[in-house]
Amino acid sequence: MIRLKFFGAAGGIVTGSCHYIDNGSFRALVDCGIFQGERKNEDLNWEPFKFDPRKLDVVFLTHAHLDHTGRLPLLVKNGFRGQIIATDATRDLTYLILQDATKLHKEAVEHGRVRVGGRVIDTPLWDYSDVEAVMRRFRVYEYGERIQFKKGVEFRMREAGHILGSVSFELWIPTSSGRLRKFVFSGDLGQTGARIIRDPDFIREADYVIVESTYGGRYHKDKSSTILEFLSILDDVARDRSVAVIPTFAVERAQEILYELNLMVEKQVIDPGIRFYLDSPMARKATLIFEKYRKYYDEDAMDLIREGDDIFRFKGLEFVETGRESKRLANVRKAVIMAGSGMCTGGRVKHHLINFLPDPKNHVVFVGYQVKGTLGRRIVDGAKKVRIYGKTVPVRAQIHTLGGFSAHADQGDLMYWLRNFGHSPREVFIVHGDNDNRLALDIRIRNELQLSTNLPELFEEYELD
Ligand SMILES: [Zn+2]
Repeated sequence: MIRLKFFGAAGGIVTGSCHYIDNGSFRALVDCGIFQGERKNEDLNWEPFKFDPRKLDVVFLTHAHLDHTGRLPLLVKNGFRGQIIATDATRDLTYLILQDATKLHKEAVEHGRVRVGGRVIDTPLWDYSDVEAVMRRFRVYEYGERIQFKKGVEFRMREAGHILGSVSFELWIPTSSGRLRKFVFSGDLGQTGARIIRDPDFIREADYVIVESTYGGRYHKDKSSTILEFLSILDDVARDRSVAVIPTFAVERAQEILYELNLMVEKQVIDPGIRFYLDSPMARKATLIFEKYRKYYDEDAMDLIREGDDIFRFKGLEFVETGRESKRLANVRKAVIMAGSGMCTGGRVKHHLINFLPDPKNHVVFVGYQVKGTLGRRIVDGAKKVRIYGKTVPVRAQIHTLGGFSAHADQGDLMYWLRNFGHSPREVFIVHGDNDNRLALDIRIRNELQLSTNLPELFEEYELD
């Protein structure tokens, strides 16, 4: 028997990924992420782990995003001494993301902005020293090697195509009676044809598949209509001398947008007078990590580099470092400002929204998933006014969602990926999706692939043969 339990990204919650697997002698997590978005979900971060971190052998880490890594510092603080298995790019990006999260968390606590169950919290949940302790637990491996681990367990990392270094894990684990079972954890899957990174690997066979469903019920607009829409926004910006604000996730989305803008500038398809500002020191640091790991780029990106193009730098682009420089952007015109955070929950983008949301000539361009309960989601959902730093700000700017830039597979991509397993899976577990999305994917899997599916609730446990 093998126990599989879902400690996050289950029950219709999209964040807090944390899957637990236990055969009696070997205990592992796949990811250990933070809950984000609605208050009732964020409160879950303060609850003690419902397992003993000291007894875990390993954390298999699919990628660096905070909703997959954010509680690693707490895990180590609570006695975890096993290995964290990931790619080298995931390790470096995790360090960047955890340091940033620690800074934001400590600032929020210092300013009395963290409340749990109505109580103001005065002590941070974790600190920089815990992040350093996390980094000492990393062991990095390459894609594609089948690794003999301990206690009869083997694993192999496959390309997930979601962000740089992202992985789907194949795990072979013996049951308590000694039969070897293969599990595949999709992690977050990317779109095929995404820029810079490679497409997701297809996996042919598994006993149990744990698959994400962030966009399990939706289709993205295709890439070419995304690019056309982006070009027409840039035309408006040039004609109206207005501003487009792009709330930007520092990792992956920022680099993908830079890559796309670089192509447009090089091919001279946009007004050469437009100024571009990457107003995110963290996105700049993430870009440096991308440049360090060219070995993970796809062929198109490598071709450009071989031709001598610097894929993340072009005429008219400025990296904005200090807060003071950022504030000066309030006066720019005929400009594109890319700033974090991607869901407008913090960071410099909030000031830009205060400045630019009230003018109907301006644009706000969303390029990634907006979790329920975030400022970004309220704007996308059509709020006429929003509260930012205590101010009421009218939403008059034009709001766009460019789905083609999403780092997530859509329903078609997920079905295509699942189809490769044929009839081999005994069970499919659908995680990491809100109710609409996970239910929509569930119906398609059962009807078209004739596979047995489960929609785990938070903290639900399954006993598998
Ligand atoms: Zn992710």
